[in-house]
Amino acid sequence: MTESQPTDVVVIGGGPAGATAARLLSQWGHAVTLIAKPEGRPNLGQSLPPSSDKLLTHIGIIDAVQGEGFLRTTGNTVWWAAGEGRSESFPNDATGYQIESARLEALLAGLAVAAGVHVVSATVRDVRVQPDGMLVVYDAEEGADQASCQWVLDCSGRAGVMARQGCRQPVEGHRTVALARVWEDQSWEVPDPTHTLVESYCDGWAWCVPVSSERRFVTMMVDPGATTLSRGAALNRMYDGELGKTDRLSAMTAGATPVGDAFACGASQYSADCVTGDGFLLVGDAASFIDPLSSFGMKKAFVSGWMAAVVTNTCLRDQTMQSPALELFERREQEAYHALRAIAERFYTEAADTHEHPFWLVRGEQGEDATDESVLAVDVQRLKHDPAVLAAFAALREAPAIRLVRGPDVRMAEGPAVQGNTVVLEDQLASPWVPDGLRYLRNIDLPELVRMAGEFSQVPDLYDAYNQRHAPVVLPDFLGALAVLLAKDVLQNDVAPD
Ligand SMILES: Cc1cc2nc3c(=O)[nH]c(=O)nc-3n(C[C@H](O)[C@H](O)[C@H](O)COP(=O)(O)OP(=O)(O)OC[C@H]3O[C@@H](n4cnc5c(N)ncnc54)[C@H](O)[C@@H]3O)c2cc1C
Repeated sequence: MTESQPTDVVVIGGGPAGATAARLLSQWGHAVTLIAKPEGRPNLGQSLPPSSDKLLTHIGIIDAVQGEGFLRTTGNTVWWAAGEGRSESFPNDATGYQIESARLEALLAGLAVAAGVHVVSATVRDVRVQPDGMLVVYDAEEGADQASCQWVLDCSGRAGVMARQGCRQPVEGHRTVALARVWEDQSWEVPDPTHTLVESYCDGWAWCVPVSSERRFVTMMVDPGATTLSRGAALNRMYDGELGKTDRLSAMTAGATPVGDAFACGASQYSADCVTGDGFLLVGDAASFIDPLSSFGMKKAFVSGWMAAVVTNTCLRDQTMQSPALELFERREQEAYHALRAIAERFYTEAADTHEHPFWLVRGEQGEDATDESVLAVDVQRLKHDPAVLAAFAALREAPAIRLVRGPDVRMAEGPAVQGNTVVLEDQLASPWVPDGLRYLRNIDLPELVRMAGEFSQVPDLYDAYNQRHAPVVLPDFLGALAVLLAKDVLQNDVAPD
């Protein structure tokens, strides 16, 4: 066994999370080795929603992704539970991307190499903690090798090279396998040729992702406990059996031609007890996996890769910031996992009411209690519909004047936050609603707003003064944030309505 040159960071896996983290860290001046398995995983058709554009811009790959020529999608057509089929376009004529995972991975690898990342085609076998850093052992074509480094980012997805060493937590009763096959037809009978199609059925759900005008990936999600999986002809038969349970997708593929055999890949949900340690981070799907129903897996992985790069950059540059940086990474990963899981679970509950099959009933039951509300405390979408926030908003509009005072147990505390490409300690608002601290809500600087709130007796005056002293914000965001602070008892209005 030989030993490669020491490097600052070894990234395991070249999917969206790993390629993003490796490229950014290299751009920020660190020596990075990305070790990615040579033989590809199954190529999957996947949808990336339009809301990803902001993120792709932030991490610097929007031009490359748009230039790759992925099919642009205008929305989804869904036949879910007992509901009528509905065809939904993305708001404001926005378009997302229909992505072949192998093409995306090749594109991201090219960008990483261009940024100076040392890419090694190999399979990581082991990671060892040593007194002066980490040692990564891998099998390359030329034989076994190893690399020493200060930080290891486990971005190996479901394989979870480090994640499986005691951190991974399966979601009880939630085993899912994806049965996929590629189909081609000259003209598909579909409501919109760019839409992702989704259909639930008695003991599973199916979806269809077009990647060109002729080619589509049609995939069924089933419980492996209720199916016997084997390769080749038997797997094709199993696939056909599942496809036959659907109404729309089986009718749609009736005249189409399958390309290659059906294939299976794991899609069970899991999370991790802990996603950081001294010298390593679990990133993207290595940390947690959410049902593809949410269509946010890639976006979550890109965010996680970016955040891992920021945290690692911070730890390499300033060891005194290691503990708050790791704390922030833990918190962000937990928030993303719970928020996205909640989205998928709303669909499960709906399907369980229609299809009285164990596949749905177990998922529906979990939906009722699986979401840990505490980590969703700042879910902006939820807050917009929170009855207490709506009531506070109405009271604010009717109040003849304001005399805003701080609620009980509200304080300002230092907490970790991202500034550029590092984690810093900054002033945050802490209260029983956000015990871990929060700086911004809808772009409003909360500690500042709370400090200023008592100075004014009219909301328009408070709004004007805030905009003079800070980066201007739009009125709906300002009023929304103020209503949340009132609903969550961070502020109280001493003036009663007329
Ligand atoms: C059936 C299915 C459908 C999906 N559909 C969608 C969708 O429509 N939209 C969406 O956003 N998301 C979808 N997802 C989720 C999405 O694919 C993942 O969330 C995303 O790819 C995670 O990125 P990642 O970089 O964390 O991990 P991955 O993309 O899994 O990348 C991990 C990488 O690590 C490599 N690796 C593994 N072990 C080793 C090792 N020992 N040594 C070296 N390298 C290793 C792998 O080869 C791979 O390249 C779907 C997932 C599945 C299973």
